[in-house]
Amino acid sequence: MPPLRLFYALWPDATLAQTLSDWTAQARLHSHGRPMRPETLHMTLAFLGSVEKDIADELIDATPYHRLQPGTVTLDRYGVFSRPGILWAGPERTPDSLQASHDGLWLWLSAFGFVPPAQPFRPHVTLLRNIERNDPPADAPPPIAWHYDRMVLVASEATDGGSRYRVVAQSRPQPV
Ligand code: ATP
Ligand code: MG
Repeated sequence: MPPLRLFYALWPDATLAQTLSDWTAQARLHSHGRPMRPETLHMTLAFLGSVEKDIADELIDATPYHRLQPGTVTLDRYGVFSRPGILWAGPERTPDSLQASHDGLWLWLSAFGFVPPAQPFRPHVTLLRNIERNDPPADAPPPIAWHYDRMVLVASEATDGGSRYRVVAQSRPQPV
């Protein structure tokens, strides 16, 4: 069986995805670029890359048992990663609770042989690709308080029309 390209993410509900699409539309006036489709919007917690099928199956089985502490992250600004040409929405400051969930997830993943990234966690939701300006729009729409209680494990699959995401497991929702 071929390996799977996997990542863990927070996935917005339809209402939040719609609000994020409004953020995309506003940013596009300034940055241009290619909007992400609303149903693909997410915040990556851990990118695993190519994972052999037997380990992938272990992760799929174990993911419902990983306890993600529920929390809130407030998206209140636009930002740019200029090298990949991405415009994103994210928090001005990473909440301690989200940082702890990120760190806890990587600790849990280390039991499966995964090594945490050297770079610091930069929580963001990619809204536009191939942007044409390196400065983000100065003003963002009103802040979005994103309440989350679970994470999803996603397989990223190459198709003719670009990457397609398939949710293959999710952690059990934790009581807030
Ligand atoms: P494509 O690469 O085909 O343009 P994509 O970037 O949406 O599509 P993936 O590369 O599979 O799809 O990435 C899935 C998610 O993981 C995205 O949120 C992406 O930003 C993030 N990601 C990808 N590579 C890394 C990496 N090396 N470190 C951290 N996050 C990554
Ligand atoms: Mg990519």
